[in-house]
Amino acid sequence: MKRELFDFLNSDLQFIKGVGPVLATRFGDVLGGRRVLDFMLHIPAYVRARGVTDIVTDAMPGDVITIPLLVKSHKRGGSFRGRRAPTQIICADKMGNSVVVQFFNVNFLDYWLKKLPIGQWRMVSGKLERGSRAVINHPEFIEEMQYANKIPSVQAIYPSGEGLTQKTFANVRDQIFAMLPDKIAGESDSDICEFFDALRHVHYPESGDDLLPNSPYMVKLAYWELLAHQSAIVISRRNRTDVRNRRIVRPQKYKLVEKFYGTLPFSLTGAQMRAINEIFSDMSRDIPMMRLVQGDVGSGKTIVALAAAIKMAESGAQTALLAPTDTLAQQHYAKIAPLCEKIGIVCDILTGRDKGASRREKLISLRSGRTKIVVGTHALFSDDVEYKDLGLVIIDEQHRFGVSQREALRTKGTNPDMLALSATPIPRTLSMTVYGDMDVSVINEKPAGRLPIKTTKLPIARISELVARLKVQVDAGAKVFWVCPLVAESDVSDLTAVQSRYDELKQIFPHAGLVHGQMDKSQRDSVMAQFADDNSDMRILVATTVIEVGIDVPRATIIVIENAEQFGLAALHQLRGRVGRGNAQSYCILLYGRNVSDAGLKRLDVLTETDDGFEIAEQDLIMRGTGELLGTRQSGWINYHFVDYARHRDLFRLAASAARDMTSPTQTVRDLMFIFDRGVTISA
Ligand code: ADP
Ligand code: MG
Repeated sequence: MKRELFDFLNSDLQFIKGVGPVLATRFGDVLGGRRVLDFMLHIPAYVRARGVTDIVTDAMPGDVITIPLLVKSHKRGGSFRGRRAPTQIICADKMGNSVVVQFFNVNFLDYWLKKLPIGQWRMVSGKLERGSRAVINHPEFIEEMQYANKIPSVQAIYPSGEGLTQKTFANVRDQIFAMLPDKIAGESDSDICEFFDALRHVHYPESGDDLLPNSPYMVKLAYWELLAHQSAIVISRRNRTDVRNRRIVRPQKYKLVEKFYGTLPFSLTGAQMRAINEIFSDMSRDIPMMRLVQGDVGSGKTIVALAAAIKMAESGAQTALLAPTDTLAQQHYAKIAPLCEKIGIVCDILTGRDKGASRREKLISLRSGRTKIVVGTHALFSDDVEYKDLGLVIIDEQHRFGVSQREALRTKGTNPDMLALSATPIPRTLSMTVYGDMDVSVINEKPAGRLPIKTTKLPIARISELVARLKVQVDAGAKVFWVCPLVAESDVSDLTAVQSRYDELKQIFPHAGLVHGQMDKSQRDSVMAQFADDNSDMRILVATTVIEVGIDVPRATIIVIENAEQFGLAALHQLRGRVGRGNAQSYCILLYGRNVSDAGLKRLDVLTETDDGFEIAEQDLIMRGTGELLGTRQSGWINYHFVDYARHRDLFRLAASAARDMTSPTQTVRDLMFIFDRGVTISA
């Protein structure tokens, strides 16, 4: 790949017109990175036809329509007696039928009113709502008639996150693909050119078929993705067993570990003991350990990892525990530090927040070898961080790290051991292909005394009954998460949904809290902290999926998930893991909407029947393989961009054998690894 293309792919989205630091951060959350390349690998989930309808009565409620409207009058909304009235723009179609355009969020009101001046025709595009009158809430497009063709007739819909509209996605896409030809000119590798050509087709689909797993573009992209991944695995495996990469065999001592067990207020489960034994046996060999510990949230992976770190410390070497976010690093540190203190091991935390003198001090302690265990984010591997003897790298939530990234971390020590922790269960049948270069330990047993979470599904029609029951529980001290989904296309109406649910619940629970992605992070953190605080009156927290990662409220025992049918099984299982962390009985209530399909209900049944993550993953795979649902691409179990597990099985075999036969990676394969492994170059 030519330098120019390389730099372009690596450049920050912030420098795209219309994207500032705030949006770039939001993109970062959704895309898992904020480079141009991260955007390009994030492809639309489906397409929506936005055909023009002239007469509103020709359309069905629920349809997305594009319709010329004559603006008749403005009716400003506002809030009175705690209730919020929407602003309404009363319009008429060509036949004089009334159509009301409604806005709930009043922040940009003047902007909207100006876009819909009284007495003028405008082309308006949005979803037609049910009800006695024709209503369009927050239309996605409003254009002057002469620019009506700016509204796409086939619109690619991107999986989105909070604070990002489909328009923003389209704008960024258009700019990137307008710049691409220049950057790619002179590229001589025809495979790479073909790769970007296929990518363009899926970003500008002509129909939904282009996005299906069997479309020629998707098949090509999936194959290249698999080739990159399987090649990285092969290289990683070869590196590991290469005689030049032998690991230092340190003295086998177990005194501190025994002492550590003795300080625990519980005894380890059989599954934890098994995992620890597997790890210790790895640590006595001269081939570096490369092990993955898989287990549901709360299965006790941290203790297992800590045992390995303590054994390392006793032999004089250091351990770095890498977490994906600051918040998670802090949570780990809070858990680990007191345990280390009891047995006299120096433990520290290092994140991007550490600056100046305090950071310098921490670095000195690491360099001298005094700090034995350090918890942190990527900051742990900045250039200025030196270790005296890094013996073990622990990676939490490993699915967010690419194989090459993992390899790059190894260069910080002399072939340190690697231990990855993952709460994302991969179906057993796939484990070998995904983790081909790692040994796997499974923790499939919950700590003693942990009760299974009671899960029920309930139609939304029975919500008042549910609220009455919650009231009794909350009055008795229970804490409740109430989760509203994020619908991909329109973040505005999501906000409306979560806000109005909050308004309603507040009538019954006056101390209810609210968090969503459009709040400031500091504001959000403060609400979450209040909810976590046992002395606070806030016992119910209404939230969008921002709570999915990073919040630990052991006393929360109830989670209500609204429109549960819109979530994937992986997401539901992770959300459910927010409760059931203590010894009290916990409950999960899956509320489903009126339009739920039979297949949707069947999926929810999987959750009511089992809370074994591996079993759920397996069922999910089977259902996706046979059903009409979206592919495994967006299943949430593994983050492939183009590969569909259920439907690309033969591509797996092809890519795996191509990778195995490769003596050393070609330039194309290196470029593909760069593309798919977050820009980390792997040395082979
Ligand atoms: P994970 O990292 O797998 O989500 P943790 O290691 O954080 O799980 O453990 C969750 C909670 O369970 C912690 O509070 C931990 O102290 C506790 N725990 C771990 N192992 C056991 C056990 N064998 N018996 C009882 N409690 C345990
Ligand atoms: Mg954990």
